[in-house]
Amino acid sequence: MQKPNERLAGQTAIVTGSSSGIGAAVALGIARDGANLLINYHSDKKSAEDIAHKINTDGTCGEAIVMKCDVSKEDEVQAMFKKTIDHFGTVDICVPNAGMQKDAAFHEMSLKDWQMVIDVNLTGQFLCAREAIREFKRRGMREVSKSLGKIIHMSSVHQIIPWAGHANYAASKGAITMLMETICQEYGPEKVRCNSIAPGAIKTDINKEAWSTQEALDELNKLIPYKRIGVPDDIGSVAAWLASDESEYINGTTIYVDGGMTCYPGFTNNG
Ligand code: NAD
Repeated sequence: MQKPNERLAGQTAIVTGSSSGIGAAVALGIARDGANLLINYHSDKKSAEDIAHKINTDGTCGEAIVMKCDVSKEDEVQAMFKKTIDHFGTVDICVPNAGMQKDAAFHEMSLKDWQMVIDVNLTGQFLCAREAIREFKRRGMREVSKSLGKIIHMSSVHQIIPWAGHANYAASKGAITMLMETICQEYGPEKVRCNSIAPGAIKTDINKEAWSTQEALDELNKLIPYKRIGVPDDIGSVAAWLASDESEYINGTTIYVDGGMTCYPGFTNNG
């Protein structure tokens, strides 16, 4: 691990879905900057414990604890916040990152698969953001940050790029924009900062079929002006900065971390 710059020292973060992929990189990025962490997992306890172990044995990071929680369940999200607050005293940074896909042609999409994706990707982010705001208001300002609290929603380029065969996923991410911007408008006056990160194609389990063969990777690169697939650390480093006072005046914004995917690469050669 790199030497931390301690810009998040004394703060505590909850990162959902942080036993794998982007969430794990966000947790490590935030821990490297000195924050304490709640590593949340849904099914893979071992991976969550491995990440917590890495943080706890590094010697320069904050402290990490682990908890199972299904983010679509209100009582489980509330229990996750309670455990974090009981252990660390409060929550300063919330990164609702957990997400999933259940893909199908739209006319074949079952209500169950529609609902499951909305429950995790949208309702899960609502439940976490709401508990975070409640905690920020309960404890008031602290000297560790210029903001009352920071929420960083994990969205996707598919909050603006339509995605055939993934209507439930695209709808959930489109809705995150309005959730995030509304929270910004409502709680900005109390010094809450609420932003989103919209990753492009990042090499994780969620999109294995898009990068597991050279052929698939070549196809994917046609969509990326920068001509490489992203890696989880590309998101982790941005999240840590966005949680810090270095980005204090950024509020109500989506930061695209996508190698230029949202810049219409199909028009590169005259369309
Ligand atoms: P991933 O599959 O590695 O991570 C998703 C995580 O969410 C997993 O740890 C999973 O266990 C967890 N999760 C799923 N359902 C859950 C539930 N009900 N409760 C708690 N946790 C649950 O994939 P990833 O790429 O790291 O995805 C993380 C986030 O990034 C997601 O919100 C995804 O939509 C978003 N994203 C990913 C990409 C990409 O290219 N990988 C692009 C844009 C956005």
